Formats: sequence, structure tokens, C-alpha cells
Amino acid sequence: MISKYVTRLHSITFFLLKVMLLGLIVPLAAGLIISFELEKKEMKARLNDFNQRSLDTLIDSAEDAMVSFSPEGARNIASFLLQDERIVKIEIFSSIYDLYLLRVSKVTPEHRFKTQELKKYVVKNGEELGYVLVAVDKDWVTPRIEKERNHIIVMFVTMFVGGLLLIIPAIYFKVLRPLNRLMRQVEVLSKGELGIPYRWQGHNEFSMLGKTLDDMRTKLDKTFSLMREMAITDELTGLPNRRGFYGEVEKLLWLSGRYKHPLVLAIFDIDYFKSINDNFGHPVGDEVLKKFSEIISGRIRKTDLLARIGGEEFVLVMPETPSEDALRLLDRLRKAVAEHEFPHGEKVTVSVGFTGFYGSEKLEGLMDIADKALYKAKADGRDRVVLGPVE
Ligand code: GH3
Ligand code: MG
Ligand code: MG
Repeated sequence: MISKYVTRLHSITFFLLKVMLLGLIVPLAAGLIISFELEKKEMKARLNDFNQRSLDTLIDSAEDAMVSFSPEGARNIASFLLQDERIVKIEIFSSIYDLYLLRVSKVTPEHRFKTQELKKYVVKNGEELGYVLVAVDKDWVTPRIEKERNHIIVMFVTMFVGGLLLIIPAIYFKVLRPLNRLMRQVEVLSKGELGIPYRWQGHNEFSMLGKTLDDMRTKLDKTFSLMREMAITDELTGLPNRRGFYGEVEKLLWLSGRYKHPLVLAIFDIDYFKSINDNFGHPVGDEVLKKFSEIISGRIRKTDLLARIGGEEFVLVMPETPSEDALRLLDRLRKAVAEHEFPHGEKVTVSVGFTGFYGSEKLEGLMDIADKALYKAKADGRDRVVLGPVE
């Protein structure tokens, strides 16, 4: 049952990790692609713009040179423009002379360019003077984009690692660890170990759950203790009942046998108890039983075990007591009952059968011997103590 929960806990861990990774990777990757594309567009636009501006600048200075066929002025501005690495080719063609005034290119057999050309015809007073052409290097954008992309990737990795460094400990300390602790607490509870408390600090959802579980455990523990107590206690007299007696007597027998110390087991049965009930009613009978248990309890040692094992039958186990001493004490108890003034005004007597324990007999055997001695006490006229075994 628990292993199923453990799997579920692990699946929560993996689920959180997956969500965390996806939650970081997807937006960051999308951000990377979008900013990369935007940057590319922006650079291309800037290159176009530069191409156009260079062409316009060249047209201004080329007009006069075309008319007068003096390439000097155009050459100056062209050589200035050519200093820019983006420009790879400039042409100024004069239609009047049907000749190139200027034709320069950076293209060599080793170095070819992918170009973007802008060409414009120069017209003055309705007459076509010629054309001007400026070509820029299209690939100029590529290394810059790559550099930009590397920057973005570094930023992305830094954000990702930084995010993980913050999120993983937060999830571990705030979710997984308390969840694990809660699991252990539930596991202990499910084994029925109600005596182990779990303390929780703080007021978050996990500690509230843990505290509630612990409150439940305390209540269950109290209820079970009470039920256990009730199961082994006689309600009327407060003495151990038959179940309580069997739970405790074995330990006394074992100790006595182990250390070879004498022990006595006696059975008490109130005489003619039925007639008390018949003559005075059941509640009076109950009162007699209570009083009887008080008389005996008040005269025995704390280490003795007195239990009510039947309606008006009691058993008394006295460790560290030889049979001769027990006979005297049991007779004193018998007398105390016989001499007691019970509220219903009639004498109550008790018959007792007992036997000594010498270390090897079984409980059933001892009970049988004491019972037979009790039977003899009844048969001999009641209100007496008889030591078993009897013939
Ligand atoms: P004996 O001297 O041979 O022991 O005679 P007895 O009348 O004491 O014995 P018997 O076994 O005939 O009667 C026992 C009676 O005890 C019968 C039963 O109604 C009564 N009894 C058993 N438990 C209780 C109880 O809790 N309260 C009361 N008032 N009576 C009980
Ligand atoms: Mg009886
Ligand atoms: Mg009786």
C-alpha cells in the first residue's frame, strides 16, 4: 500500500522537474528565436538603409561629374564610401559619353561576395545623364547575427542555470522534503504505531496537514488506550477481568518459576450469592460484589493480583508467598468478609480453594486444583479455606 504512495511521490518529483524544465526551456527558447529573428530583421533593414544612403550621397556628387565628364569629384566620394566594409562595388556610368566614369569593386578571384545592388538613373532637365550603382555585402549581416546569437545563448544558459539553482532548492525544501516527512508519518500511522509523535513547525499547508494528522494520532491513541483498558477491566469492581487476569498472571508464574520463589493461587466464590440477588435485588448484589472486592483489595499486597473472573468468583495470585502463610492470610480474608456489616444487613461468607505453585505447573492445572479445593470447601459447609490438591 505504501509502495504505491512512494511511486506516486516519485512521480510528483519527476512531474515537477519536467514542468520546471519545460517551463524554463520553452519560454527561453521561444525568446531566443524571437529575439534572434528580430535582430536579423533589424540588421537587414539597417543594411538596406545604408545602401540607399550611400547611393543618394553618390548621386549628389556624381551629377556634375557626369555632365562634365570629370570623374575626380565622384572618385573622392566613392573612395570615401569604399572605406566602409559593407560596400563592395560602385559604378557610375555616363550615358552622354557611353562610358564608365567610375567602376570599382572589391571582388577578387579569392574573395567573392553575395551582393545586394541598388541602381539609380540620374536625370537632369528631362535628359538621362547615366546611372549610379552601389552594391553592399549581403553576408555582412551573418557574423554579426551569429555574435548576437551567441550573446543570447549565453544569456539563456545563465538564466536557465540561475533559475534552476533557485527553483530546485525551493521545491526541495518547500515541497518534496515536507511531503516525504508526511509520507513517513502516514507510514508509521498505517502500521498502527500510535505512540510516535511527529512535531511540525510553521503554518504552511504541509505543517497544517502534519499537525492535523498528529492530532488524529493523539486522539486515536487515547481512544485505543481507553478501549484496551476497558477490555481488560471489570466495570463493576474496577479489578482486572478474566482477560486482564490472563494477561498478567503468566508473567508472575514465569518470575516465580525462574527464581524458584513460592507463589499461591486462590479462587474465591461468594456463598449463596444467588439468594442475595433473589432476596434483595440485583443492585444490592452488585453492591455486595463491590464491597467484597474492596475488603480483599485492602488487605493484600500491591504485588498481588486480584481479578474478577466470573459473576461472584474472584482469583487471587500471591507471589513470594508460601502455602502456610497463604492459609493464614486467606483465612483472615475469609473472616474479614464474614465479619463485615453489609448494607443489606445480612452476613456474607466466602469459600476459598487454593494451591501453591512449585515452578513447573501450567496455569490451567493450578486453576483446576484450586477449583477442586473450592468445590471441597463448598461441600464441607462453605465459609472456609481449603488447600489443594484434594482427593
Ligand atoms: P454457591 O454458594 O454454591 O456458590 O451458590 P451461589 O448462589 O453463590 O452460586 P450460583 O452459581 O448458583 O449463583 C451465582 C449468582 O451470581 C447467579 C448470578 O445471577 C449472580 N451474578 C453473576 N454476576 C452477577 C453480577 O454482576 N451482579 C449480580 N448482582 N449478580 C451476579
Ligand atoms: Mg459461583
Ligand atoms: Mg457462589
